[in-house]
Amino acid sequence: MLVKENEILAPYVTFRIGGSTPKMLIPETEEELIAVIKDFKERGEKYYLLGNGSNVLITDNTLTRKVIFNKEACNYIKFQEEGRVEVGSSVDIRNLIDRLIEHNLESPVALYTIPATVGGAIFQNASRNSFKVSISDNLIYVRYFDGEVIRTISKEECKFSWRQSIFHEHRNWVILSAVFQFKEQLKEVGKERKKASIKAASDKSYRKQYSAGSVFKIKSLKVLEFFKGIRFGDAEFSPITVNTIHNLGKAKFKDVKQLIFLAKLAHKLCLKKVELEIEIWK
Ligand SMILES: Cc1cc2nc3c(=O)[nH]c(=O)nc-3n(C[C@H](O)[C@H](O)[C@H](O)COP(=O)(O)OP(=O)(O)OC[C@H]3O[C@@H](n4cnc5c(N)ncnc54)[C@H](O)[C@@H]3O)c2cc1C
Repeated sequence: MLVKENEILAPYVTFRIGGSTPKMLIPETEEELIAVIKDFKERGEKYYLLGNGSNVLITDNTLTRKVIFNKEACNYIKFQEEGRVEVGSSVDIRNLIDRLIEHNLESPVALYTIPATVGGAIFQNASRNSFKVSISDNLIYVRYFDGEVIRTISKEECKFSWRQSIFHEHRNWVILSAVFQFKEQLKEVGKERKKASIKAASDKSYRKQYSAGSVFKIKSLKVLEFFKGIRFGDAEFSPITVNTIHNLGKAKFKDVKQLIFLAKLAHKLCLKKVELEIEIWK
């Protein structure tokens, strides 16, 4: 297992914002990941679990917790019978889709533009609303480690809803893998569908700049329209895509926080509900 002291986190997250963590642990196998989690639990120490870092905003200061980086430990795809596939939580969604296409299986191509690990996507029930596709659509069950034993949980028990799953209620449960079932589909068809899906997303400016995707999961689009182009330092509400904050290069944690604060305040004044989608790590 790789251990890095005082590791700067900005390069690990899509916002490219973030100070250091006292320690970053990078388990290389599932067994190492489980051992690390067990160790934290036994010592009663809290940690942050990082996937692809596409839904987190991290303080510029030193984090209060160590970080476990899960990009290596569960990096496997096991093809089983009848279109069943077990996918490790470290696998990049884009890699999964490419492998499914090659195996003549129908894949959730609409999710190709989401820069997530499978673990992070299941945690968040990542979806593309306009295509009515979510990571949980083809899911059968999830394998996770609860700090003591490995358990499985069915799709129904995962309590998926809009950008939500049971894993939000149990922050100490670590997703190890998930079993999906996909229909057969010729790879030529899969490749065409992937191409079309990427093309449909290519006009979204936020996909090309540093960001963490949508900022709020519950919001008023009317209120957020007003914020388009509003800027603090190098942090800017996208002038094109509503509900997205870009880091134009040197944005600080406090710049993004300031924009979030103002947008929340505006919702409050307009008596509209608002809830953050991105996570803030301090
Ligand atoms: C350009 C861009 C476009 C995006 N488009 C979309 C979109 O269309 N739809 C959408 O839904 N989201 C979108 N997002 C948001 C983001 O990609 C998703 O929320 C994604 O699911 C986060 O996955 P991750 O691996 O990056 O998780 P991280 O950001 O690393 O972590 C997010 C949370 O998941 C937890 N987590 C990660 N792995 C595990 C695991 N193995 N077990 C338990 N918990 C875990 C983390 O601890 C953390 O709490 C977009 C983001 C960007 C930057």
